Amino acid sequence: MAQVTDGPGLYQLAEEHEELRAAVRALAEKEIAPYAAEVDEDERYPVEASEALSKAGFQAIHIPEEYEGQGADAIAACIVIEEVARVDASASLIPAVNKLGTQPILLSASDEVKKLVLPSIASGEASASYALSEREAGSDTASMRTRAKRDGDNWVLNGTKCWITNAGESTWYTVMAVSDPDAPKKSNGISAFVVHKDDPGFTVGPKEKKLGIKGSPTREIYFENCTIPAERIIGEPGTGLKTALRTLDHTRPTIGAQALGIAQGALDATVAYVKDRKQFGKAIGEFQGVQFMLADMGTKIEAARHLVYASAAATERGDSRASFMASAAKTYASDIAMSVTTDAVQLFGGAGYTRDFPVERMMRDAKITQIYEGTNQIQRMVMARQLLK
Ligand SMILES: Cc1cc2nc3c(=O)[nH]c(=O)nc-3n(C[C@H](O)[C@H](O)[C@H](O)COP(=O)(O)OP(=O)(O)OC[C@H]3O[C@@H](n4cnc5c(N)ncnc54)[C@H](O)[C@@H]3O)c2cc1C
Repeated sequence: MAQVTDGPGLYQLAEEHEELRAAVRALAEKEIAPYAAEVDEDERYPVEASEALSKAGFQAIHIPEEYEGQGADAIAACIVIEEVARVDASASLIPAVNKLGTQPILLSASDEVKKLVLPSIASGEASASYALSEREAGSDTASMRTRAKRDGDNWVLNGTKCWITNAGESTWYTVMAVSDPDAPKKSNGISAFVVHKDDPGFTVGPKEKKLGIKGSPTREIYFENCTIPAERIIGEPGTGLKTALRTLDHTRPTIGAQALGIAQGALDATVAYVKDRKQFGKAIGEFQGVQFMLADMGTKIEAARHLVYASAAATERGDSRASFMASAAKTYASDIAMSVTTDAVQLFGGAGYTRDFPVERMMRDAKITQIYEGTNQIQRMVMARQLLK
């Protein structure tokens, strides 16, 4: 029989992870939560959150020490995103998109590109976005049209990417473009590049008008003969889509963490409300019909938390089930975030339907987690493919 481990470490997070959670929670409640409603109402970038996260070193804790970062593991990165999302989903996109934008570089870029980009993200002086989607190439990523042509010592990019999170705020953009339109398989004709906001021929469009995450700008980005040095390719020509999709295996747990944080924030607000609100002469939390809803919300959150951390650890280990688990974590956590926030609004009654309480915003913010980084239908396709293999 395998040796049985005893003691407090059995099947629980490391002490360092719990200390990190306490530190991020304290910062989020003090420096981010007070601005969350205003950021949503005014549809403005959460500058207070950005400054506080960078000052504390929580804006991109995943950058390896080799590149002047903290080298935190994938679970730690999820905890930061979860705790920020618990008070403000828009602000949680700062660490989440820094990870998304840099993951292709971490996976496949040359040391030269890593040295160019990563220390600036680690210090908080710069940030990164990820540009895969196009208006006509959303779920079907391989049908993208943005072109990259080699021209002597440069690559020249032309086209439009859309739905780019934090575009206009970011310094660096990881961009996937077709470098070989004649490749027999479309997916083998796509390469990945690093573009700087000041590169000639790069511009950003107006902000999309969205249902939620209103503090995080989503814009189109344009390439008009955008010229970058040849060394800024990520990996070999033709490997860009593979890198982009491998990236998502690492970042889908972070979207699960974001969804989990939103759901936890909604449950916490609801528990406080049902203890306080009185009808029929007692607190509404004393009614069994309300208690059963709370119990179900808590159960879903607990289950999602285990899946999110397990999937983050699986991607870090390079586990053969990592891709399945990343999709499962993103799908499950985002589906429960939608149901938990909807139930939270229900338990606030009429008050839940107004902007006087945070659950209305949380319900709107939760919806995006079922859509981006691959819709939940696409996740289910990914999962089913693995099961049927
Ligand atoms: C706020 C926001 C931020 C985003 N941020 C980024 C970003 O930073 N970078 C980036 O590259 N992209 C980003 N995206 C894009 C996002 O990843 C896409 O919107 C998403 O992948 C879906 O693509 P689509 O919108 O074209 O929908 P479509 O692909 O048109 O899908 C429409 C519907 O059809 C369903 N569908 C499509 N194909 C199938 C199928 N084979 N089987 C079953 N159902 C199917 C979809 O699930 C969906 O319900 C963002 C999007 C939003 C809204």
